[in-house]
Amino acid sequence: MDRTGKCLCGAVRFTIRDLNPEFGTCHCKMCQRWAGASLLALSVPADSVSFEGGEHVKHYQSSEWAERAWCENCGSNLWYRVTAEGPFHGTYHMPIGLLDDTSGLKNMREIYVDRKPDAYDLAGERERLDTAATLALFGADE
Ligand SMILES: [Zn+2]
Ligand SMILES: [Zn+2]
Repeated sequence: MDRTGKCLCGAVRFTIRDLNPEFGTCHCKMCQRWAGASLLALSVPADSVSFEGGEHVKHYQSSEWAERAWCENCGSNLWYRVTAEGPFHGTYHMPIGLLDDTSGLKNMREIYVDRKPDAYDLAGERERLDTAATLALFGADE
């Protein structure tokens, strides 16, 4: 399925072709600071998304291996993206809330669950990885 989305002010818009409705949730402290709470994000291959308004996108290199981007006008977070070489290079991780239509999405995995604020849990059964298991999966610190 194709899905469209945009930032709060609409300066940055995008279309994702053949969206994979399975998304992941990251509870790491960096995502909490960036997103305000845990980050629920879709994995979007670079060649399946097209952007409009790219001149309004600002980037922050949040670690040696990844960047985070947002709209300069309204501050909406747009993506987390691995910049380092490797199997995850270039893939966009985009907050699900940017989509115009969020129906049918499936939360498939939570990572860094031991860093999640104890004030909330996400309902349902899925793979839940603590910090050690997350590091083993990605081979890096968040
Ligand atoms: Zn905006
Ligand atoms: Zn994170």
